[in-house]
Amino acid sequence: MEVVKQYKVVIIGSGPAGCTAALYLSRANLVPVVLEGLQPGGQLTITTDVENYPGFPEGIQGPKLMDLMRKQAERFGAVFAFENVEKIDLLKRPFEITTDGKVFEAEALIAASGASAMQLGIESEKALQGFGVSYCATCDGFFFKGKSIVVVGGGDSAMEEATFLTKFADKVTIIHRRSELRASKIMQERAQSNPKIDFILDSTVTEVLGSKESGVTGLKVQNLKTGKIIDMTAQGLFVAIGHTPNTAPFKGQLTLDEKGYIVTQPNSTLTNIPGVFACGDVVDHVYRQAITAAGTGCMAALDCERWITHERITERWGLETGEEARV
Ligand code: NAP
Repeated sequence: MEVVKQYKVVIIGSGPAGCTAALYLSRANLVPVVLEGLQPGGQLTITTDVENYPGFPEGIQGPKLMDLMRKQAERFGAVFAFENVEKIDLLKRPFEITTDGKVFEAEALIAASGASAMQLGIESEKALQGFGVSYCATCDGFFFKGKSIVVVGGGDSAMEEATFLTKFADKVTIIHRRSELRASKIMQERAQSNPKIDFILDSTVTEVLGSKESGVTGLKVQNLKTGKIIDMTAQGLFVAIGHTPNTAPFKGQLTLDEKGYIVTQPNSTLTNIPGVFACGDVVDHVYRQAITAAGTGCMAALDCERWITHERITERWGLETGEEARV
């Protein structure tokens, strides 16, 4: 196991929250290292056009936006390392972060590890992500004007996404695996009374049809009671079966809510452990937007910088010691 020299700040996660925190900290001369995780750039890298991130009037591709954010942070000295965190020890000082083969030590830590949209887990779903398969109606709904769309899920998210998508689509079909919906009564009724929304219950999507060139063209849908498979025409598939916050390495150390999201102190990014800050989707199951994640990433960097100054850590390290702290 290679022990990497201490960093003042380790940022876990390289989505909009992590990149923004890295930008602010590197401009404060704190030379953070960003441990990128298995999906460098985060959830935006599995979407295509992003039209709701301010500053890009023509829209921008998700992967391109993340590439620009990373370059902007690197310009000021942030270090990006393609490392996936396996273990974190927040009881030690400095904190110890273990990846596959390396140990990082840090005076402060920013958790920006995001959340993952749950997937159906079929191969064709993965192949067509960003080409008609989406996990975010707010992000991608606009591209389905006049189209037929399927939403999978029976919870509040599925009802909300389906209802939102009727602003654009001609027809939205909700496919749910049971005969009863999980969603709250009011959300169910809203979807059920919408003339553009149909339901197919007791059913599951077994295959997404189409190609990267044509986009999604249809779905194979199996009735779980009869086993019968039907072909359906659709140009979009929105999977709304929940999100999981990426908090496994923090369990038992940081305070998490009942759904596993990190709890921060009101109006701040402070967690229950001094020197640990949290931002982006790993704390937020309400807004879940790139711009809100970037905003809280900025807050985490400012909170972290203040904490470091208060703890006189910068003085101990010297302000110009960035070079020795590189991977
Ligand atoms: P959720 O309540 O956990 O519902 C997930 C749905 O997806 C369930 O119907 C579940 O089916 C289905 N599902 C899970 N795995 C599946 C799979 N592999 N294949 C097919 N279907 C699958 O998640 P959510 O809808 O994202 O909501 C999360 C939380 O946010 C909830 O507390 C919700 O109330 C809240 N929320 C609130 C609002 C609002 O009030 N405006 C909007 C969105 C979300 P089963 O029912 O069979 O388990």
